[in-house]
Amino acid sequence: MDDKRVTRRDFLLRVGALGLAGLGASSLLSACGGGQQQQQTAPQPEAASVDTAAAASADFSCTDVSGLTAEEIQMRESLQYTDHSPYPDKTCSNCQLFIPAESPNQCGACQLIKGPIHPDGYCTSWVQKVS
Ligand code: SF4
Repeated sequence: MDDKRVTRRDFLLRVGALGLAGLGASSLLSACGGGQQQQQTAPQPEAASVDTAAAASADFSCTDVSGLTAEEIQMRESLQYTDHSPYPDKTCSNCQLFIPAESPNQCGACQLIKGPIHPDGYCTSWVQKVS
């Protein structure tokens, strides 16, 4: 006897299980908002890129959110603010919404996001600065 034969019933059970697994995965992605914000999601830089960006950036950070409300922190996170832009040509310092500090080695501010903003930073609301 050949026990490896797949019966029609086995086939339908397997296809059904795969369909349910796929449905579960897509529901999970939808719940995470993965489907709608894919175009605005910043690429995840390679570990080496992060090190290079960190080395190229001034040696200060603008990540202290201790004075912010939970909503303001959530806004920073939802717009994926980072001190080190993954895009060499898109940084807070050339964003229309950036408010620079008196010194280039200090955290600036942003018209949109509360809290300290690094000149080399970035968020998904970046807008090209016009002169
Ligand atoms: S909008 Fe985003 S990219 Fe522009 S200055 Fe504010 S934090 Fe930086």
